[in-house]
Amino acid sequence: LGIALAALLALLIAVIVYTTAEIDRIAVDSRSIAATNLRASTLAHRAQSAAQRGVSELYALFLLADHASRTPVYEEIDRNNRLRDLTLAELQGITIDSAERRALLGATRARDAYVVAFTATVDELEVDAANAHRLMLSQTMPALDIMLDALDQLVAVQISIADAKIRNLGVVQVAAQRSLALFGLLALGVALLSAFAITRSIAAPLAATARFAGAVAEGDLQAALPAAGRDEVGSLVAALDRMRKGIVAREARIADLAYYDSLTRLPNRVLFYDRLRQGIRTATRAGLPLSVLVLGLDRFKHVNDALGHQAGDEFLQQVALRLQGVAQRESDTVARLGGDEFALLLPTQGAGDAMLVARRLLEALEAPIVLQGQPVDIGASIGIAACPEHGVEVNQIMSRADIAMYVAKQANSGVALFEPRFEHHAEHGLSLMGELRQAVERDEFLLHYQPKVTLANGACKAVEVLIRWRHPTRGMVPPDQFVPFAERTGYIKTITHWVLEHACAQLALWHRRGIEISICVNISTHDLIHQDLPGLAAQILHRHGLAAKWLSLEITESLIMEDPAKALAALERLHQLGIRLAIDDFGTGYSSLAYLKKLPVQELKIDRSFVLNMAEDLDDAAIVRSTIELAHNMGLRVVAEGIETREIYQQLRVLGCDEAQGYFMSRPLPATEMEEWLEAQR
Ligand code: C2E
Ligand code: MG
Ligand code: MG
Repeated sequence: LGIALAALLALLIAVIVYTTAEIDRIAVDSRSIAATNLRASTLAHRAQSAAQRGVSELYALFLLADHASRTPVYEEIDRNNRLRDLTLAELQGITIDSAERRALLGATRARDAYVVAFTATVDELEVDAANAHRLMLSQTMPALDIMLDALDQLVAVQISIADAKIRNLGVVQVAAQRSLALFGLLALGVALLSAFAITRSIAAPLAATARFAGAVAEGDLQAALPAAGRDEVGSLVAALDRMRKGIVAREARIADLAYYDSLTRLPNRVLFYDRLRQGIRTATRAGLPLSVLVLGLDRFKHVNDALGHQAGDEFLQQVALRLQGVAQRESDTVARLGGDEFALLLPTQGAGDAMLVARRLLEALEAPIVLQGQPVDIGASIGIAACPEHGVEVNQIMSRADIAMYVAKQANSGVALFEPRFEHHAEHGLSLMGELRQAVERDEFLLHYQPKVTLANGACKAVEVLIRWRHPTRGMVPPDQFVPFAERTGYIKTITHWVLEHACAQLALWHRRGIEISICVNISTHDLIHQDLPGLAAQILHRHGLAAKWLSLEITESLIMEDPAKALAALERLHQLGIRLAIDDFGTGYSSLAYLKKLPVQELKIDRSFVLNMAEDLDDAAIVRSTIELAHNMGLRVVAEGIETREIYQQLRVLGCDEAQGYFMSRPLPATEMEEWLEAQR
């Protein structure tokens, strides 16, 4: 574009310079014609007419008789001669052309000859008029004729020179017009050429670039890059190429995220199901077997709880490496289905082969994994389902391998191959969920209360609220059989809401009857993490006109570790509301007292498994004693649960335990019986 513009500009300047020069030339020529040639022809005419007037005056001399009357004519003749001579002299000054000079020379000579003859004739006239007349006819007249001819000649020469010059001007003008037309054509050519070049170098590559961008937008990431130079279009193309590479990289990353587990780099559930689907198709077409192994880790949750998420991640990575080490065939797929669940796809291998692979997997997981310098046992359960005997459809095979894994875990057998009778287990779980949902609507839940007794004086200041399910066919279902299930399915939210509501209603009633007591409600970590428990508790307390200090919440310690940050935030808010917090079942989890110190809890409940046997088991007794001491050092109240005998009651009192709870004082009782117990106690 720059070059084209420069060329056009140069042409324009050239045209202006040339035109100005030509106009100058024509002007100069015109001026010279006016100044010299026209002047010269005027002078020539003047000399000619002066000479012609001389002839008539010569005739007049001969007509006048005496000298006195001729005198004015002589004067007239002198003036004319002077005018003629002056004119010729002036002509001499401005003539340059050779033809002109020659004609002028002829005219001057003819004049000189005429002057001689004329002078002689006039001299003779004064002496002898007849002789003078003869002289005039024989000499003066011919000389005059010659002079007039010469002057005619001069005039003709002058006119022809002027004519030639004027003709020449025309030629010059035509030439200038032609040159200008030529320049114009040249400029047009340059303009067309540059337009063509610009189109080629900008418009065409731009169109190609637009096509390329369109192709990339359509998803054709392999589209050929348009050719481009190092100009602006070139950098645009380069930028588009960079953009395409970015898209390619990001798409690869998206595909990676969509199909691979970011922690272990193993295929994820989506990719596994996809490969299983394909595997089933090829296996059934070729009449070959296929099997799926689902592997669940037994202790992953504990690793996470005790050593933290980072160790948990490392644990999973190590497990993944070991599984890959066993399934080395290229056609095998090892995948992480999520959490602590892995799966193996063995195309073309039946249940028998799968059983062998499962044994090898368990062997590979036998050696403990070292985390933070500590050996950690892995432990896994594997379920196997095969195609076609256990199904020819992805979901069916997967759910049957799942059921087999569940059975292996329950039976602690390591591996289980699916059997149709296993399916009852799964159905049991499903129907339980349905029944649990109906339990609230059908009002099948009820609450029992168990007193907590102050060991120092035997007074009862608090009762623990324990849920019961009166099942229409199964009878009383203990919480251990449905609470963990409700936690897994998230239904615990509804249960907690129900328990808080009914326990607070009961508490308000007791307060109105003058029974000043607190309640302790069990909550699950699911409540802390997945719902606004502080908000809910505050709202229910408010509705029943109860101060927060009357409510205490018990949290099982191992569960807090699932999401410590979120759990801690919720605990802080509950604490700020004035609700008391207690750690339940202390000693069964992995958390240390040092960790618990960071939690805003006021109470620790030693798990009943330590308390039950402390009279016989010295280890248990030592654990209980040191726990009481440490907790007291940290400013926590200690509650022991599971006191069944007077002996243990006394023992705990000696150890300085603050409160006790157990069958020895009272079993959990319905509200009315609890009220009677409290009255009796008073
Ligand atoms: P927990 O909070 O540790 O409750 C104490 C359990 O010990 C109760 O069992 C109680 O009946 C039992 N117990 C009390 N004294 C003795 C004794 O002297 N000897 C023996 N062997 N056991 C005694 P329960 O009612 O079966 O509750 C079991 C667990 O279910 C509770 O353990 C608690 O974690 C959970 N749970 C109960 N109610 C609720 C509830 O409303 N919400 C939630 N999230 N969990 C609940
Ligand atoms: Mg409890
Ligand atoms: Mg407990």
